[in-house]
Amino acid sequence: MNIKHKLLIFLMSTGLAVVAQVTPADLVLRGGTVYPAPGVRAIHDAVVVIRGGKIAVIGKSKNVRVPRSATVLDCSGKVIVAGFWNSHVHFTEDIWSDPQGTAVKAGNSCVTCLEVVHMRDMLTRWGFTTVWDLGSDPQKTLSFQHMVDSNVIPGPKILMAGSIFPKEGHPVYLPAEVRLPEAATPQEAEKMARGYMDMRLDGIKLFTGAYMGRDKPVINMDTAIVKAAVDVAHAEGKPVFTHPQNHVGVDNALAGGVDILAHTIPTEGSFTADELAQMKRQHTALIPTLTLWTTVTSNVDAQKQLVQAGVDQVKAYASQGGTILFGTDVGFITKYDTAEELEYMGRALTWSEILASLTTNPAAFFKASSKGRVEKDMDADLVVLEGDPAVDVRNFAKVAWTVRAGKVIWAAVGKK
Ligand SMILES: [Zn+2]
Repeated sequence: MNIKHKLLIFLMSTGLAVVAQVTPADLVLRGGTVYPAPGVRAIHDAVVVIRGGKIAVIGKSKNVRVPRSATVLDCSGKVIVAGFWNSHVHFTEDIWSDPQGTAVKAGNSCVTCLEVVHMRDMLTRWGFTTVWDLGSDPQKTLSFQHMVDSNVIPGPKILMAGSIFPKEGHPVYLPAEVRLPEAATPQEAEKMARGYMDMRLDGIKLFTGAYMGRDKPVINMDTAIVKAAVDVAHAEGKPVFTHPQNHVGVDNALAGGVDILAHTIPTEGSFTADELAQMKRQHTALIPTLTLWTTVTSNVDAQKQLVQAGVDQVKAYASQGGTILFGTDVGFITKYDTAEELEYMGRALTWSEILASLTTNPAAFFKASSKGRVEKDMDADLVVLEGDPAVDVRNFAKVAWTVRAGKVIWAAVGKK
């Protein structure tokens, strides 16, 4: 933040900013406490005025006269933060193939269509305004992306990565009948990556470690294959994620220049000191997916151990200044409520660091400079929380309203 920004926020927090103009068509969030960004002082009894999908005015209630005709959300007693990112989701559940969805696809609004209901249950009611789909059928996800972008389905901005697997590395948990793109050589990986870039996908996801089942060795992707795909994506300025699975999967990914580890690796104990140092040096980001580890075994003690190992890995990397991005693998897992993930993350991070993982970290990492902060001229992607996350991090899951590009895409009012 530059001096000008700091001065502006100071003036607003002291109520010295000029009385702002509000027009009748504006959406106004009045009376809440705004946390503009992690580490930035809160604005109490604030007003946020949204116009044309952007934050037009932010200040103290007493300085902003709101016309009666403006749409006002009463945020008294509530907390306003920037819209959340979930940097690891999937649109793969059967529920996304809804026969009723034809009404939506035909361009009619359909509030009861499963796609609409499901987008809400899985994502918008938890505050997500931007998500990364790390591997689904690209054609399907692109069609959801289109329906959301054309306002047929209220939803988050969807970014999509295309997957590449190692040869004979069809993970045991993915349906056997689906043919997966497996690369045996760097040339094949390069071709697949180019294909995804031609489809205008937003990134690539590699399985540098594929889980083949209990007592079977993990199939890893060679570094040369990793690098071939990474080079194609990076030439287009696009990021590469990996599902690492084990140490070799982490090491080959790092050696090949991958940008984001899409999971922790709790079956492997800890990251090594060399891995942590290399991650830091290469500015690699880490997505915890801690709740996922409660779903991979029915043994409760084993679940606890896996979660704790994941927590320790997040802590180890964050304590060295490594970038953490919030992500849950929702859509693969069916626990939609984010409270559990937040609680686990709270064992490794402060509430402010968790806010960063949901907002400023992904916005900076994925170069979305108009997102991640509640400031004038930023995108009006906002979450209104019922409780203060500084008091209890699970309050990040208690969402009263989700606003994306100035439109309310989730409202808890009148709903359970
Ligand atoms: Zn996943």
